[in-house]
Amino acid sequence: MVRRVAFMGAAACVCVFSLCALAAVQGSAPKQTIVLKAARMITAVDDTVVKNGVVIIEGGRIKAVGAALEIPANAKVIDLGDATLLPGLIDAHTHLLSEMDGTNLRLQDVEMLRIVATQSTAQRALLGAKLGREDLEAGITTVRDVGNSGVNGDVALRRAIERGWVPGPRMITSTRALAAQGGQFGQLIPEAQKIIEQEYVTIHGAESARQAVRQALYDGATCIKVIVNGSPANVTLEEMKAIVEEAHTSGVKVAAHAIGDGPTRIAAEAGVDSIEHAYVVKDDVLKMMAEKHIYLVPTDGTLKTFEDMSFGTRQPTEAERANAAAEFGPYVKLIQDRLRRAIKFGVPIAAGSDMYLSMPGLNRGQASLLLYEAYAEAGMTPMQIIHAATRDAAELLGMKDRVGTLEAGKLADIIAVPGDPLNDIKALEHTKFVMKGGMVILEKE
Ligand SMILES: [Zn+2]
Repeated sequence: MVRRVAFMGAAACVCVFSLCALAAVQGSAPKQTIVLKAARMITAVDDTVVKNGVVIIEGGRIKAVGAALEIPANAKVIDLGDATLLPGLIDAHTHLLSEMDGTNLRLQDVEMLRIVATQSTAQRALLGAKLGREDLEAGITTVRDVGNSGVNGDVALRRAIERGWVPGPRMITSTRALAAQGGQFGQLIPEAQKIIEQEYVTIHGAESARQAVRQALYDGATCIKVIVNGSPANVTLEEMKAIVEEAHTSGVKVAAHAIGDGPTRIAAEAGVDSIEHAYVVKDDVLKMMAEKHIYLVPTDGTLKTFEDMSFGTRQPTEAERANAAAEFGPYVKLIQDRLRRAIKFGVPIAAGSDMYLSMPGLNRGQASLLLYEAYAEAGMTPMQIIHAATRDAAELLGMKDRVGTLEAGKLADIIAVPGDPLNDIKALEHTKFVMKGGMVILEKE
């Protein structure tokens, strides 16, 4: 979570969570062979588009992928018509157990305090069940959830989804983020500081950092999240190196929240696996990231979404809108420039929404997909965006052997969107079909 503004919009969704899907979340993948057909298919293995795409699914996995394949006898055929088949989308930066009121951007410190002080981890896990289902129905079949989930609430949600208790995306979970003194709460009086450990694990030196990683792994973390920016003291390079070494020893990756020259440099030098946000970052740090294959997770928004969000459902006056444009415009230009520089230097990109706000008119899944418009406005091509949200995010999550592309042997996490997303990236905001592990989650006319 970051002091950042995000999105809103007005699309309405008719989600069909079918009885079949309800049965599916409680059981295993259907035995019957399923065949998906559509006018186009993007496997995300490379840049090619397959005309008349066909995917054959058996036992929850992809058996064959190609153009106009022969349909096995007795298979159930789902013909999606003028649509594009794609791998299920991956959101590499979620906070499914957190929903802030977004209409007052300047009170986010207070809003976080309110949530942590008034919502139990159990309540937040139930919120996560709702938001996770919204993600899944929007076509996001895998997420990396990076903290702000109480004490291990994310692990509880992940296990509930894995056991089929609730529908939701596959999850990588960090448990509480590691942080310098104070976490991200701003300055609290001494009597209130006990609350910090409900949301963050503060570290004090390299050995404390190692211990925090070991505790996170014991608590069920499948990645480690570190907030490098502190106020005022950042996590140090020595601490960061200890975290990376300890996590990598157990085969777990490290995501670093870092903004500004100092924190991004510490994260890159320590060899983390991804740097989140990096709204402000120097060229030589980006070059180091490219060299070390450190992902940038650009949690970006468009000017329109920043403006919309400032006003919630209220219609602003012309003057208010102009003020918002004057305030957010330069910021949006700045982050677009850093995304272009990152791509120019060859920094790998994984799509991550960082959506943690309630967005009037949009559910969590819908709001999370607006991210792609921000990438497009910065100059990414639709194919680059699709790779960042599928194949490349799967690599960052350590899941490329299972998800991220349409290939024989992979889990059958497949979506279909109307028309051709290479013509208009907004097609990804209108998913009409979702399959997870061979089970149909959503099918719209
Ligand atoms: Zn975040």
